[in-house]
Amino acid sequence: MELSYWELKSWFTTIDYTIVGSGIVGLHTALRLRERFPTSKILVIEKGMLPQGASTKNAGFACFGSLSEIIDDLKSHSEEEVIQLIKKRWQGLQLLRKRLGDETIDFKPYGGYELFLKDDESTYKECLSKLTFVNDIIKPLFKTDVFTKEVDRFGFNGIHDHLIFNPFEAQIDTGNMMQALLKQAIAENILILNQQTVTSFHENQNGVQVALGDFSFTTKKLLFATNGFANELINCAVKPARAQVLITEPIPNLDIKGTFHLDKGYYYFRNIGNRILFGGGRNLDFKGETTSEFGETERIQNRLEHLLREVILPNQEFKIEHRWSGIMGLGSSKNPIVSQLSEHVYCGVRLGGMGVAIGSLIGTELADLI
Ligand SMILES: Cc1cc2nc3c(=O)[nH]c(=O)nc-3n(C[C@H](O)[C@H](O)[C@H](O)COP(=O)(O)OP(=O)(O)OC[C@H]3O[C@@H](n4cnc5c(N)ncnc54)[C@H](O)[C@@H]3O)c2cc1C
Repeated sequence: MELSYWELKSWFTTIDYTIVGSGIVGLHTALRLRERFPTSKILVIEKGMLPQGASTKNAGFACFGSLSEIIDDLKSHSEEEVIQLIKKRWQGLQLLRKRLGDETIDFKPYGGYELFLKDDESTYKECLSKLTFVNDIIKPLFKTDVFTKEVDRFGFNGIHDHLIFNPFEAQIDTGNMMQALLKQAIAENILILNQQTVTSFHENQNGVQVALGDFSFTTKKLLFATNGFANELINCAVKPARAQVLITEPIPNLDIKGTFHLDKGYYYFRNIGNRILFGGGRNLDFKGETTSEFGETERIQNRLEHLLREVILPNQEFKIEHRWSGIMGLGSSKNPIVSQLSEHVYCGVRLGGMGVAIGSLIGTELADLI
């Protein structure tokens, strides 16, 4: 890359903070740094034309965990850890709403539901038996019972009669959220360079030399917000996890409103106006879906269509309009990693499946490490 004197001077000289990744975390990190350091030079490097990971690909659930997910988490994390995680997701959502405004992100507090397939008797029974216990441990946060048992009024098929309802769950417009964050970042004099991949970095006494292929520049601090791609440049316990999604064409008289979880959160669907967005199925092929390559597979897409036809919209004609995938960052713990890796290098990664909720907080925490 041959750059002019002007380009070098205005874009690549005296950079204070360089953030890798313009997803939810990267942009919140940049905005928080701007709050703390009003005159600093902040640069965001993004490899995609648009953010190219999970933040523009997700389902737009403003959620903090379904009952079965919370029960599952309690098996691998301490009670205190689970409560703290739910608290952070909840606080993150409030921060996101405050920063962007409910109207901007099209925040719709329709509530969330969990469904249980008829042949999954054990999860259903476990959820019913532990409902009171889970409500009790999170009551200090929400001041009331979060989960209640409700009769299915949506006409789903092949599921147990009762759903679990959570009135605190909502849906947002993911595209609006990310556009608003990008606009705010630009308005705050944060420079975003798209279609540039950080290929390596080299730390020295005064800062970090960052390579974009054959071109390199120096920054005082380097912050990774690369989530599922983190292991490509830094060493941390994050694995990529692909998630596949489809969306229907508009369905006349669609009577489904809200966010819905199925099969311990492995499947999720919601209405977007009078369409259904439906995603999940990683559990059909964990190995194959542990990848940072975008793409859809027949096996998972067929299962999504099958569940849509048989369970979710059993008596309705519909057509699939579009399919896509995104890459999440997962690990053995549900806790994100927010860490200083060396003198001038930091990371905020491993956002898991609820980064819409927790992402704003993780961005803030990452920026506050400096
Ligand atoms: C299909 C799907 C559905 C989901 N549904 C929900 C949901 O309903 N609710 C919810 O809360 N969460 C959901 N999630 C999870 C949520 O989207 C993520 O947790 C969140 O977006 C993570 O944000 P992030 O900024 O950490 O990562 P990303 O959005 O993945 O951002 C990382 C960025 O880093 C860039 N990057 C990586 N490496 C480099 C490099 N070397 N150089 C330059 N740039 C680089 C990538 O291109 C990417 O844009 C879903 C995820 C998917 C995939």
